[in-house]
Amino acid sequence: MSRQVSINGKLVPQEQATVSVFDHGLLYGDGVFEGLRSYGGKVFRLEEHVKRLYESAQAIRLEIPISQSDMAKQISETVAANKITDGYVRAVITRGVGTLGLDPNKCSNPQIIIIADTITMYPQEYYDNGLELITSSVIRNHPAALSPRIKSLNYLNNILAKIEGLKAGCVEALMLNHKGEVAECTGDNLFLVKNGRLLTPPLDAGILEGVTRNAVIELAEDAGIEVVTNAITKHDVYIANECFLTGTAAEVVPVVKVDDRVIGTGKPGPMTLDLHKRFHELVRS
Ligand code: PMP
Repeated sequence: MSRQVSINGKLVPQEQATVSVFDHGLLYGDGVFEGLRSYGGKVFRLEEHVKRLYESAQAIRLEIPISQSDMAKQISETVAANKITDGYVRAVITRGVGTLGLDPNKCSNPQIIIIADTITMYPQEYYDNGLELITSSVIRNHPAALSPRIKSLNYLNNILAKIEGLKAGCVEALMLNHKGEVAECTGDNLFLVKNGRLLTPPLDAGILEGVTRNAVIELAEDAGIEVVTNAITKHDVYIANECFLTGTAAEVVPVVKVDDRVIGTGKPGPMTLDLHKRFHELVRS
């Protein structure tokens, strides 16, 4: 089915939704993006996603020419125009059309692209049986080089780790930071359960501040679970009682094996399943 794609605030059929080959988003990965999810026609934590988008843009000195509330409105309108109830939304802001040189000052206008589509979800067996991970040899971007808190169009760091994971038969791969601590996976944040407490790497471990991560932390705290955001090592992962990943697409997905070590009982754990259930209730509420 042909989709209506929003380009600079105008809805056009997807066949006509094109960008220039001189766009620096394409030439240099110069831009930022968001991945959002619609449940029952309503975008989950829309304002939070839009805020992160503008913070990413701010960090790369990209001025988005519309307000955050207009951006949120355009995202909702694109979802509605495509009659998406449960689906995925991609918002992309590129630096715009420039020359073949790097200079972003030569770029005319940022391009605002919003795509709403149905979502390809992880197969149910991942939730029933849990995932296996490997630790990638690819270190997560050093925050002083390109902060992982910026959701930029340059995902090569994650893609290289993903390739390594896929080669090893894993759909996700664990990435360590430059200090050798656990950072996150290629497109998901990581959580552990140890002795009844929930552990997750802090933002300064060099991770994206996941919207799902924040929601799960809130849900856990509301349920009276202690949440600890301290540096985590690979050893902590190996000896955890439970492990799971969070992300807009994955939601809450259990991990049962890491680097060929069985985590906990080797089955999705009770806290993982409980938070998964609570998350589902939250997104539909
Ligand atoms: N880390 C990375 C590198 C990601 O790309 C994503 C997906 N956006 C996440 C974590 C999870 O973030 P969120 O829960 O906001 O989707």
